[in-house]
Amino acid sequence: MSFILGNIGDRAVLIEGDSYFDIETLSNGMLSSDPMQSISSFASLHLLSDSLKDSVPTGKVSSVNLGPPVPRPQKSFAVGLNFKSHADESNMQLPTNPLVFTKFPSCLVGANSDIEMRSDGVDYEAELVVVIGVGGKDIDKKNAWNHVAGVTIGQDISDRFAQFAAQPPHFDLGKSFDTFGPIGPFVYSTDHFSDLDDFQLTTDVNGEIRQSDTTKNLIFDVPTLIEYLSRITTLVPGDIIFTGTPDGIGAAQGKFLKDGDIITTTIAGIGTMINHCRRVSDYVKGA
Ligand code: ZN
Repeated sequence: MSFILGNIGDRAVLIEGDSYFDIETLSNGMLSSDPMQSISSFASLHLLSDSLKDSVPTGKVSSVNLGPPVPRPQKSFAVGLNFKSHADESNMQLPTNPLVFTKFPSCLVGANSDIEMRSDGVDYEAELVVVIGVGGKDIDKKNAWNHVAGVTIGQDISDRFAQFAAQPPHFDLGKSFDTFGPIGPFVYSTDHFSDLDDFQLTTDVNGEIRQSDTTKNLIFDVPTLIEYLSRITTLVPGDIIFTGTPDGIGAAQGKFLKDGDIITTTIAGIGTMINHCRRVSDYVKGA
């Protein structure tokens, strides 16, 4: 049976409706509630999900603070320019191989966390995030989805001034400020979906739709990314991949995020993240 995995108070929980169930309690201590360990035992989560209807919930989701469902991945990849529409608006050539960078795991926060901005050049990027459940090396693309525990929503928040402060640009730093990686609200196991290559993404800022596209239009689809990455580095359970954003980013429209803005990010079938933007101190004087 399919599962919905969350992180509440740094404990792994299963979700049903608006209730959550602590995994260690639900499994009578057989499984850990460490969020990273729970992902590596994701096959057991399918079985455990069967027992939810006969169990007493630990609590109600709405009453608690959501953490990132994958809080401490060993590796957190992101893919740049992976939609043609976005490469075009950025005046960049289409990549011939995936353009991969890192979002440091320390930037990951929960689905409703505030974004702390340290310049006036901060931008949004709605993305499908894939969570590896079965590690491996040299994974064939035909088998790649079998290595995925589930999928969730991500915002690849970017400080464009920091990103382009050096030439060639250093994507990693500009996209890894603390709070720049909201993910969630929950990880949905892949068996929730009839078509894993068609997730509809939307970003809305203060009620205005800025991005809307489907992962059908990815240049390098998820299996191709997994095959490519796993030829270079061994993937392990809990590794995550931000798979790329469509057009409509703020930089292309002169619409950077401002103090008080509210970003609403939706993927049909997965849910919605709501992040409030706060302008805090500058990362360099005068930025
Ligand atoms: Zn991105």
